[in-house]
Amino acid sequence: MLRLRAERYPSPMALFTPGPDPSVRRPSRTKLWIGLVALTLIASACGVAEEQLAGDNFDDGDTGSEVDSDSAQTCTPEELGADEDTEVVTGHLVVDGELGELCFGEPNDAVIEAFEELAVITPPDQMTDLGLFAGFVWEGADDEVTLAFVSPVDDAHSQFLLAIEVEEFVNDRDEASLTNAHEFAHVFTQTQTELDTEIDPADCDTYWNGSGCFREDSLMFAWITEFWNSTQLDALVGEASVDGGAEQCALDDSFFGQYAASDPEEDFAEAFSAYVFGLEPATNGQAQKVAWIQDQPGLAEFRERADAAGLTPLTNNFEVCG
Ligand SMILES: [Zn+2]
Repeated sequence: MLRLRAERYPSPMALFTPGPDPSVRRPSRTKLWIGLVALTLIASACGVAEEQLAGDNFDDGDTGSEVDSDSAQTCTPEELGADEDTEVVTGHLVVDGELGELCFGEPNDAVIEAFEELAVITPPDQMTDLGLFAGFVWEGADDEVTLAFVSPVDDAHSQFLLAIEVEEFVNDRDEASLTNAHEFAHVFTQTQTELDTEIDPADCDTYWNGSGCFREDSLMFAWITEFWNSTQLDALVGEASVDGGAEQCALDDSFFGQYAASDPEEDFAEAFSAYVFGLEPATNGQAQKVAWIQDQPGLAEFRERADAAGLTPLTNNFEVCG
């Protein structure tokens, strides 16, 4: 069974226009297939304005009740990433970096545990990049399960939805921990200070990821500059996938598995998860990537927090490339 840590940007997703009426929506953004990558990323939004989120009273201990439509902020399944393969079962607001009230479905222990572990490894000031945290059950093909995904909740990438597959989370906790870190890597590499979502794709001189252009001083552009040569970038064909990384994986021992070899952002996210949970590198190439991450400002703190919480080391079960 293939296990994917996917960045699905479910389509069609409504974009929310902040304003007095949360039902006001704009049509989905046109998909962009540009240049080096053909990831189709569609910005999405929960029907909750940031100002509303910030102003909500919430009690992080109060996760035991169903949504009360009279008082609670509600989210629709679509706003939480539902599609034909994804049945959303739980959605929470994230307020000031803490798990806020339920906005959809019923409380789910796996979702709460996932959030708590993410909060353990993540510096508190970065948890505020999350606006929604959700749980879903995979209803798609059994041979390819999406373990989790992230999606921006607004056009400007000011906050993100992170959603986990609740059954897989319980089935393999080590995998789930790696998935958590992987997904959060996509969050902090696509915030407004990292990714310019307003620039025209044709004007992007760094790397267009399907929804924006990485800024010149961004972490992802530094990663791509360091580890991806033009031949590899030219060979990228589309959405990240296990199969899509087969060729590059065979040629380069630095990748943590085929999925990483299919896309620079997946490459970083897999390597970051390996770093945070102290996986022993299996190759010199893997060791170089982990060392690079260790040297970046702010990233070692994730590892230190994981170490301090006794969450390391996990076993390196990534398929070896090269
Ligand atoms: Zn990913």
